Amino acid sequence: MNIPFNKPYLIGNEIDYIDQAIATGKLSGNGKFTKKCQSFFENKYGFLKTFLTTSCTDALEMCAILLDIKPNDEVIMPSFTFVSTANAFVLRGANIVFCDSEKDNPNIDANAIEQLITEKTKAIVVVHYAGVACDMDQIMSIAKKNNLFVVEDAAQAIDSYYKGKPLGGIGHLGAFSFHETKNISAGEGGMLIVNDERFIERAEVIWEKGTNRTAFFRGEVDKYGWVDIGSSFLPSEITAAFLWAQLEQIDDIQSVRKSIWEAYWDLLSESNTTIKLPSCPEYATNNAHMFYLLCSSIEERTRILASLKENGIHAVFHYQGLHDSQFYIDKHDGRELPNCDFFTQCLIRLPLYYELPISKIKNILKTVLNER
Ligand SMILES: *Cc1c(COP(=O)(O)O)cnc(C)c1O
Repeated sequence: MNIPFNKPYLIGNEIDYIDQAIATGKLSGNGKFTKKCQSFFENKYGFLKTFLTTSCTDALEMCAILLDIKPNDEVIMPSFTFVSTANAFVLRGANIVFCDSEKDNPNIDANAIEQLITEKTKAIVVVHYAGVACDMDQIMSIAKKNNLFVVEDAAQAIDSYYKGKPLGGIGHLGAFSFHETKNISAGEGGMLIVNDERFIERAEVIWEKGTNRTAFFRGEVDKYGWVDIGSSFLPSEITAAFLWAQLEQIDDIQSVRKSIWEAYWDLLSESNTTIKLPSCPEYATNNAHMFYLLCSSIEERTRILASLKENGIHAVFHYQGLHDSQFYIDKHDGRELPNCDFFTQCLIRLPLYYELPISKIKNILKTVLNER
């Protein structure tokens, strides 16, 4: 048996659309397929304005620029997240104030945020882990009361909701990822979501290397030039064409992923195992981004991973808490983050991809459960 952790696949017209993009004679960014992808999100989810980017990391870097993050500003975020959540703000000179996770799910503990706010705090960055929403009403009200911005790192949270509102569309700004390990993929890719009118014009400039080229293409200015800082955040039309083919099939992709997720869940629920299954608060939906398990100790996790590996099954763990990372440990204020440490030590992600057959899920779980 050889089961990879993730497997990229062609779901529809990827190659055909790439051919079409080439035939237009314009492969750089912001062409026909970029616009199709952006309109898709604006129409389906009602987002105010979206910008396709080369990664979620880039979209987060755009957020930090848009919020005018300056050296020594403080940004509050969970420690249990991918490095890009923090790096985007550290690049602007921010100090990161890491917040603990909730006890029974890796999302930021909304009840622990307020005590971390100081006069220097500029923003709260939330991460919807596994596509399951953070407690956004509470977080938005804390932000409002303290005059802070909220950024949603919704890298894992495409097509998922909080009380009926699409994730990525609740904070002032949001970011999606189309990395090959995410539900909808373009190999590498991402999207900035702007939910606050005030940021639209500047986002266009930052996106286009600090120039007003987008306004020029609309005929609003008669030449374009350098008007602000920015970078090369647009993906090429090849990326956008691939992405568009996947977006066209989003309902199919989501329903297949959900059936895989449910197969894991059902088989484990029937098994009398004491291993902990993921929990989803009532206000959140599950977009089947990942299936994870919570072991009772790091030793148990190490044993399970080794036995999966012996059977040719590639499962993984993550994240090292960023407060405990080589880069940040000396900059962290020393607070213990016990819930984060628990997920760092005890969480296992099992394979989940479109072409994973149910028969293999049974094999994976047999290995997991035998090991216990
Ligand atoms: C995948 C991921 C990112 C980075 O996305 P890229 O598109 O690879 O830059 C950022 N944050 C979280 C929570 C992620 O899961």
